[in-house]
Amino acid sequence: MSPAQDYTIVVPTIGRPSLAVLLTSLAAQEVHGAHVMPQEVVVVDDRPAAPGAPGVDLGQSGAWLPVRIVRTGGRGPAAARNAGWRCARTPWVVFLDDDVQLPPSWAPDLLADLRSAAPRVGGVQGRIVVPLPPGRRPTDWERSTAGLESARWATADMAYRRVTLEQVSGFDERFPRAYREDADLAARVRRAGWTLAQGERHVLHPVRPAADDVSLRVQAGTFDDATLRALHGRRWRTVAQTGRGRLRLHLATVAVAALTVAAALTRRPRLTAVAAWVWAAFTADFFVRRLTPGPRPADEVFAREARRLAWTSVAIPFAAVAHRARGEWNARGGLPPWPLPIDAVLFDRDGTLIEDIPYNGDPEAVRPTEGARAVLDALRSRGVLVGVVTNQSGLCRGLLTAAQVQSVNAEVEARLGPFDTWQVCPHCPEDECLCRKPRPGMILAAAQELGLAPAACAVVGDIGADVEAARAAGAVGVLVPAPATRTEEVAEAELVAADLAGAIDLLAARLGAASPELGRAAWR
Ligand SMILES: [Mg+2]
Ligand SMILES: [Zn+2]
Repeated sequence: MSPAQDYTIVVPTIGRPSLAVLLTSLAAQEVHGAHVMPQEVVVVDDRPAAPGAPGVDLGQSGAWLPVRIVRTGGRGPAAARNAGWRCARTPWVVFLDDDVQLPPSWAPDLLADLRSAAPRVGGVQGRIVVPLPPGRRPTDWERSTAGLESARWATADMAYRRVTLEQVSGFDERFPRAYREDADLAARVRRAGWTLAQGERHVLHPVRPAADDVSLRVQAGTFDDATLRALHGRRWRTVAQTGRGRLRLHLATVAVAALTVAAALTRRPRLTAVAAWVWAAFTADFFVRRLTPGPRPADEVFAREARRLAWTSVAIPFAAVAHRARGEWNARGGLPPWPLPIDAVLFDRDGTLIEDIPYNGDPEAVRPTEGARAVLDALRSRGVLVGVVTNQSGLCRGLLTAAQVQSVNAEVEARLGPFDTWQVCPHCPEDECLCRKPRPGMILAAAQELGLAPAACAVVGDIGADVEAARAAGAVGVLVPAPATRTEEVAEAELVAADLAGAIDLLAARLGAASPELGRAAWR
């Protein structure tokens, strides 16, 4: 195996222009040629569904880099990275953020890092360098970005072995933003017996231009602190490599603010004055602590920074407490460990549940596949939910009427029993909808209808598009090849079974319905 075949790059993106800059810096690596380049760059477009929206901008170099684009429909960076690494077939997967830039020696340095990794090393981190403005002290936002330099196992540049990711089922998709999901993964990887190493390569992570309220917005991360605490217990701060933080002071600030309001409403002027004074003191202390390490009054940016810090220092305690309370409520009663148990199995219709007759509109012609009824009944009796996800482009092509599709589906239920959800995509491939497999829309819709996380669903189908849709949705995909299935599709699929019963056997260890409520409650 040549070094070039060693690694795949996975970049989740929400369409920021910095992606083209990153790909340009990859194309401009000092040592040119296939021997340092990745086997593939998987760009995971995680923008929410927007019909007719243009694709992500890959820039000039995107044209000749081996780029594959996967769409995940807005499920967050953890879910997007999972969809990305599950496409990879190389021993190593390198996660890069879409706003880093690679110095010219990055690829050769990466290969040196990977080659020097001992067999027990499951992941190798790159160093992150945050260029700060010269000639003045950094602002609050610049300092918080610079914190990445000391963050361990941050996925701005982090390589993992594919087997390692496989073993721990990748990122926990219950972390919805780029916060704490990297620390959680690193902790589970180490618990599985791997070690993590610091590499020699580095990337540049410029400070992104940010709106004035960015420090307020990032308080949403306190929600994820509650998730991390529910999953890792008392040692969650060690996992997150974070100190006590200011949450207790924020709580005290919110409490005295509430007391001020209560005292004013009950017309107790002295208590009102004292409580208001204490609230103002807490707020002023917070403001001063954020202002003093930053730009000096002589700096051009000072006035704006002071204004920004003043009003956000008033608002942040309330936001932090509210998000943390939401997180604690979400995690009440505990969260099950990742990966989630599988509480629903979604089946492709044609070629999987019934024999494939292209554009069939005649219920009389419906023939269930061998063992379909028995497998469905076994799942139902275990409490596992069952559903159908089917592409019916015959509707858009005018080859089928909605009434015909409905009568065929009714016949399927008559022969195979009731399904908990039906998802039908009526579109043509050129409609670029998010529901048509291999896109994830129908699986996401089915999961939502059933009240489950997509990761608590499995998808069984007979072609590559079925398992690709599963991967993009974060569900577990199983391919059951039919006569029409292509050899490459079988080679690409992670899980392949000879028949439907075999597919359920593959899932058996993770079928959760012994405690279906737990899995369902986990997704709130
Ligand atoms: Mg099919
Ligand atoms: Zn569709």
